[in-house]
Amino acid sequence: MAEKMRKKLLQTELERPTLCMECGGVLVYKGLGEYQCEECGAFEYDDYGKVRNYLEKHRGANVAEISAATDVSHKAIREMIKERRFEIIDNRGGYLRCEICGESITSGRLCSKCEEHYHRDVEAKAREERKKGMTMTGYGDATTGERGSKRYTRER
Ligand SMILES: [Zn+2]
Ligand SMILES: [Zn+2]
Repeated sequence: MAEKMRKKLLQTELERPTLCMECGGVLVYKGLGEYQCEECGAFEYDDYGKVRNYLEKHRGANVAEISAATDVSHKAIREMIKERRFEIIDNRGGYLRCEICGESITSGRLCSKCEEHYHRDVEAKAREERKKGMTMTGYGDATTGERGSKRYTRER
């Protein structure tokens, strides 16, 4: 049982730091791969955060350069690109732009920042809709009769 728990924990911890390197405090996710210790305020980054930080200062860097500077493996970086997590890698020619802020991106319609805002917005709206729906009771009054089980009597 303990083994199972450990495996589960490892899975979720693999990509993100959970404890502060400085004081061992809990790291709180700040977004975009950045975490801050709630005890001492130190910042930590997961692989995505490291790569992203590097790219912010070195736009157009290639995978080898990023890997050398951040210690994140080529494979992991390629995975991130495949998942469309960066809008600034290898963006030579064929420009796409974020539909909200206009930043150049390699794929999709929004940059990752706007995508997050978009999701939050959608979530907020969905919550409102849900509230409205609850007061109006639009559904949920489907009769729960036994319509499926028709009883018929044979006629002789
Ligand atoms: Zn700390
Ligand atoms: Zn944007």
